[in-house]
Amino acid sequence: MEVDPASAFGPREDGMERLWTPHRMVYIGGEAKPADSTVGACPFCRIPQGDDEQGLVVARGERCFVILNLYPYNSGHLMVLPYRHVSDYTDLDEAETVELAVLTQKAIRILGVVYAPAGFNIGMNQGAVAGAGIAAHLHQHLVPRWLGDANFLPVVGQTKALPELLADTRRRLADAWGREES
Ligand SMILES: [Zn+2]
Repeated sequence: MEVDPASAFGPREDGMERLWTPHRMVYIGGEAKPADSTVGACPFCRIPQGDDEQGLVVARGERCFVILNLYPYNSGHLMVLPYRHVSDYTDLDEAETVELAVLTQKAIRILGVVYAPAGFNIGMNQGAVAGAGIAAHLHQHLVPRWLGDANFLPVVGQTKALPELLADTRRRLADAWGREES
């Protein structure tokens, strides 16, 4: 039997337990990082124009939408964001602010049904200095948490996500979302 060497599973842990490490949420390696902060270079502006499977879209609202993070911090790591290309939370108008909140609440319920997490981290990294991978287009992270999951996160953070796995996650969440609506 062949056994993979321990070195194949990412860097050694430093023994610290982290509850919230937004720096892990930047788009690793920068390959998905926009060239500049314009609409034309923004993946979050491009995603809603394509199909749901391709863009990992879980749900579309009127003013905001819900997608899977391409580089998840945990299974079921979602992002809720406005269609409009704005960088600052205070740039949202009232209707967008409300829908961002309502979609976040619904996403929490859906993740609860599908994955039964023990808790959530919810938040925005505003500006590149705060860890936003795509600072020009506001997005709210929603990360399901399980007891002890911090132990394998450093490994997950260094591992390329499998598209099949994300497609699977997207389908499960989108199906559950649709069921709650009907
Ligand atoms: Zn954008």
